[in-house]
Formats: sequence, structure tokens, C-alpha cells
Amino acid sequence: MSIRTFLRELEAQNQLIKIKKQVSTEFEISAVMKKLDGGSAVFFENVEGYSIPIVGGICGTRDRIAFSLKTKSSELLHKLLDAVEHRNPVRIVEKAPAQEIIEKEIDLLKQLPILTYCEKDGGPYITAGIVVAKDPLTGIRNVSIHRLMVIGRNKLAIRIVEGRHLDQYYKIAEGLNKPLEVGIAIGLHPVLLMASSSSVPLYVDEFEVASALAGESIELVKCKTVDVEVPAQAEIIIEGKILPHIRAKEGPFVDILGAYDIVREQPVVEVTCLTHRNNPIYQSILPGGYEHMLLMGLPQEPRIFKVVQNTVPSIQNVYLTPGGCHWLHGVISIKKRTEGDAKNAIIAALAAHPSLKHVIIVDDDIDIFNSQQVEYAIATRVQADRDVVIVTNVRGSSLDPSANQEQGALTSKVGIDATKSLMKQRELFELAKIPNENQIDLKKYLE
Ligand code: MN
Repeated sequence: MSIRTFLRELEAQNQLIKIKKQVSTEFEISAVMKKLDGGSAVFFENVEGYSIPIVGGICGTRDRIAFSLKTKSSELLHKLLDAVEHRNPVRIVEKAPAQEIIEKEIDLLKQLPILTYCEKDGGPYITAGIVVAKDPLTGIRNVSIHRLMVIGRNKLAIRIVEGRHLDQYYKIAEGLNKPLEVGIAIGLHPVLLMASSSSVPLYVDEFEVASALAGESIELVKCKTVDVEVPAQAEIIIEGKILPHIRAKEGPFVDILGAYDIVREQPVVEVTCLTHRNNPIYQSILPGGYEHMLLMGLPQEPRIFKVVQNTVPSIQNVYLTPGGCHWLHGVISIKKRTEGDAKNAIIAALAAHPSLKHVIIVDDDIDIFNSQQVEYAIATRVQADRDVVIVTNVRGSSLDPSANQEQGALTSKVGIDATKSLMKQRELFELAKIPNENQIDLKKYLE
């Protein structure tokens, strides 16, 4: 489970663009990544001032993520749900490629090609680092992805969203006046990125989710200077500790909606050691790009599915759409059994993912991944006075610039019931078929 094996698979499928031209870590690499966003992954061989190449966009499309998890795009949600529910153990190894080279003298910007992406960025920062920590009380591992801004030779400001698992661990450590030890892994197979961003309860080890997704135990190795285990097949490991009672300015950086997040006072990681492979590869996620949106949004789909399933057991699938930044807009398909099913699904979905702002419920004959089919359902199955639900003054996304952020992201939400009415004759909604149309092989007619 290394990024190297995955890059070879992408190359074999012509899904990896290799850039030989020399490129700068400041604005140039990000500009090329943005041009290629949503398409192939990209590998920058010649990075100005560094001997380390950079890869981006490996999780840049839903299909590529599905391919990396050996499943189909439409089955991703079920694969993720299954992995969370049937986790597999990890395996601890003694020797690891990630520790082929050990560096105790730290100067992050000299040692790693850390990128500056956008015009108003607060500085260079790491976007594809998974942060591994252990609960100071139970020792149970947590793995999550965080922005890491370089603020000194051996210092990083870390963005930790209040209330998240790492925040809970950090607050416990801080209460004990102790630092929280962390291992930060960069250059990983998509399985590890997907597992790290999965939405699981506190005290569920995301590496066990990764093992389930991979179908084999993920290999971990103990860090050299801290008591934390990190992926043995990673390209680069930054070891350090999040210092108690210290804060530094973090940002401004670009969020999932492509706008600037505010500058905040955030905790500080003091780096104690850097280990890496011989000839490591640095990995980057373009902020506000598809990879960023997918890694954040995809794990919400199984969460929404589970909550809606409690109310509407016949739910089929959930899709957070790209136009809504894989975050604010959802489409859900159900097999409608009673007239109120879709409305219940609306209410459950809006509560399951608080950032969800507009949700459309469709029947299972509509392909939720096809926006034209979803619009067709709205066009032919909706009467607005009856099928639209508006909920006002609910908590929404803290990123939505149109919400009332002064009062804690107060927003209005809309649900559209675009399912066929059970009161009407089913035949009215029947989609016309031509006999044997699916058996027609067009090639034979064009010869
Ligand atoms: Mn967690």
C-alpha cells in the first residue's frame, strides 16, 4: 500500500501526466495543478531548488478513488460503510522504507518542497499530511488530515477544528501540561488518505479502517523520537509534538468552497525529527480543488446514508455533488414506499450533515450521478407548493459566505421531493422504452 504502486497503476492507465519542465513551489505548481484539476493526476519531476519530485491529484476524481479502492464509483459509499463496520487490525513492523533516511537537523523549507498555492496564502503549507496521535489517557490512535503552515525552521502551525478528535486529545494533553506527540505522514496510497478522512466515532482507529479498505493489514512503524506509529510505506514522516498553551497565527488559506478562510490562533507543532525514503516523493492536495472536496465530502455520504436509513430504510444511495463543492448539495435516491418517505429523508439528511444546504430526493430510476437526470426529476415530478420544504434559522456551514456567520452560521435549507407521487397513476411517470434498445450495438449500424 504505497503511493509508488498506485502511481505505477495510474501510469499504466494513462492517468498520470509527467511534467519535465522545471517548476516553482510558489504559485507555478499550484497553477498547473489547477489547470489539470478534475483530470489526470500530475507528477512534477523537476522542482526548482529541490531534488524531491511532487505528485498531486491522485484522489482527484471519484472514479480514480473508486479504482484505488478496487470498487465502482456508484459502490463507493457501500465500500466505505463496510470498511468502517468491519475494521481490520494493523501490523507493526521493525524496518520501514519511510525511515531509510533519518534527519535530526531540521529546516523544513530547505528539506521539503512545501508549496505556496494562492495569491493571499499566509505562507507555504502542507496539505497532504495525515496526523497520527494517541489519546494521552487510553493510548488509542487517531488519524486525521490537517493544514500545517511553516512558521519556523522546525515549527508548524496546525489547523485543528474545535471539537474534532485531535482537538479532544490535544485538550487532554494540555490539561496535563504535556505536549501531544504526533507523527505526520506524507506521500500515501489513496486508501490511507480516504481512511484518514473517514467520519468515524472517537476511539475508532482510522488505520483499522484503512486495513479494511485495503483488504490487508496496513504496516505501521514506530517513530524515532516520539511514541507514535506511522505508515511504514509513507514517503516522508515529520515527527514532533504539539506544544501546550502556545498559539500562532494560521492562514489565511483557501477552504473547500474556494474562498479564503480567516486567520486564526492555532496550536504549534515543534518538529523533532524528519525521516524519509531514499529519493522520496512529496505529495500535495490543491486547496479548493476536486481532491480536497472529495476527501472531505465523500466520507459524509456514508454518514448521511446511515442516518437517513434509520428513517427511510429503502434509501439507495447518496451523492454530494461537485457544483455544491461536494459539501453543500446532495442528491439521495430512495425506493419510495409511502407518500411521506421523501420528506422524512429530507429532514434526516439535513440534520445528518449540518453543512448540507440543498437536498433533492429522487426515485431509484434516476441516476443520482447524472445532473441532467436529476433535473429531469425536478422538471417532471415536482410541484413546488407541495414538494419543497424550507427550514429557516438552522445551523449550516461555517464556510458559506451567504449564511449569517455572526450568529453561528445560521442558514436556510431547502429540500426538494422530486419523487413520483404515489397518489397519481404510476403509468403517467413511466419512462418509454423501445423493445431491445439496450441490446442495440450501434457500431453494427455505422459500418
Ligand atoms: Mn478519529
